[in-house]
Amino acid sequence: MTRPIEIDLVSDTATKPSPGMLAAMVNARVGDEQRDEDPTVLELNARVADLLGMEAALFLPSGTMCNQIAFLVHCRPGDEIITAANAHVFGSEGAGASALAGAQFRTVPTANGIFQAREVEAAIRAPRHRSPRSRVVSVEQTANRGGGSVWPVATLNEVAAVAHAHGLAAHMDGARLPNAAIASGLPMAAHTAGFDSAWIDLSKGLGCPVGAVLAGSSGFMEEALFWKHRLGGAMRQAGFIAAAGLYALEHHYQRLADDHEKARLFAGWVHGAGGVVVFPAEVETNILFLDLSQCALNANAVATRLRDHGIRFGVESATRMRVVTHLDVSTAQVRQAAEHFIRIVEAR
Ligand SMILES: *Cc1c(COP(=O)(O)O)cnc(C)c1O
Repeated sequence: MTRPIEIDLVSDTATKPSPGMLAAMVNARVGDEQRDEDPTVLELNARVADLLGMEAALFLPSGTMCNQIAFLVHCRPGDEIITAANAHVFGSEGAGASALAGAQFRTVPTANGIFQAREVEAAIRAPRHRSPRSRVVSVEQTANRGGGSVWPVATLNEVAAVAHAHGLAAHMDGARLPNAAIASGLPMAAHTAGFDSAWIDLSKGLGCPVGAVLAGSSGFMEEALFWKHRLGGAMRQAGFIAAAGLYALEHHYQRLADDHEKARLFAGWVHGAGGVVVFPAEVETNILFLDLSQCALNANAVATRLRDHGIRFGVESATRMRVVTHLDVSTAQVRQAAEHFIRIVEAR
């Protein structure tokens, strides 16, 4: 029997609903969401629209569906989406943008997932009969594979402005926008101000079991609602899960600062041990990578040894691991994980 995982740092999706969240879910007022009759879903949509400074918002089962619906609304087949080469929309959504919206990607290489307005400008195609039509710029706040890095609001505004100047839409994959808002001290609406569509995930750092909310203009949302139904994303008494979202925005939002602090502490403890290099050098939010290329052991061997202690990190490649802090791991547990990890990588 393998030991159960007690300290799960593989992702902030590892969280389970807290007793308070479960109570809110059980006591939710519900109705048929497909008929727009679920009061809790309507409340969550209004709340997120307000937090993101958008006219309207739409509760969806997942963040992936938020991205896919946004591309379906913004793009026609053959259109091009400009995004970072390490973006989730490009590498981790089953090529959905191509398969569903018929769009293709033009990627910008980045180390931390953040690109500049001039790089967008360079990637936008001149209108020519033989060229794809550049249609959307998609940014990821925070940049997951960029090490949880936070796009400065000024850069977001510049990127959105360049997109609009050329007739493109600006879309934000805000899976961890709440983390970016807490880390930057600027409200989510300040990050999304230049964007035509943006969403937040409820099932990442906010700690819900399921759900995401896509926001945009009323016109955008009319179309998004059509696609929600077509893709089978319309639910029934979804208020039971939307209630978790409302609870999370109330109780799990400000505390994201704790997760960032835990990640910073972890980085400080392990950096340099046995040749380990932490990326990014300055941890900004709740995600960090461990470069093991200077270590004696490879990532899979380290992961197996950690598992023996009931600890899990993400394995990205033979030389790269990922650690994500969240509300279900305490500072003491993060400390314990760091100690075991250091012992493993320092063992000769
Ligand atoms: C998790 C994630 C998604 C997808 O969200 P799901 O809720 O898992 O479908 C999209 N983008 C980023 C950056 C993510 O981290």
